Amino acid sequence: MLIRPDISYTMTQCWYTRSHIPVATRHRDEQGTLFSKCRHCGRPIRSHGGKSWTLADGIDLDELASQSHIRYICVTNTFEGEVIARYVLESDLDDEAIKARCEAVIDKHGAREPLSGLDVRVLGGTKH
Ligand SMILES: [Zn+2]
Repeated sequence: MLIRPDISYTMTQCWYTRSHIPVATRHRDEQGTLFSKCRHCGRPIRSHGGKSWTLADGIDLDELASQSHIRYICVTNTFEGEVIARYVLESDLDDEAIKARCEAVIDKHGAREPLSGLDVRVLGGTKH
């Protein structure tokens, strides 16, 4: 049987583990963000500090969180690195209320399923 490399490599290790491993070459932009390419899937990736790498064309949740003063619940498809829903939280909600709101969002999207690939978390609210 002939296995064509472009087909056998479509399911890379990082597709399963969702952690991308950079190649040796990387560069840094003016903001200090590192850019490289994943040695497994070959897609462009970026990192803050070089510890964990996310797809460069995807969503960097940490970066998003550090930029927003408004708190919101973010539902992300972790396979695609795509934000699929965002619910803004009123600024006067306490922790209990936010927790309840999170639960409702998790139920609504069926994110409790381990294989849903969905990540629900509260972002933002950073005091500058
Ligand atoms: Zn990768």
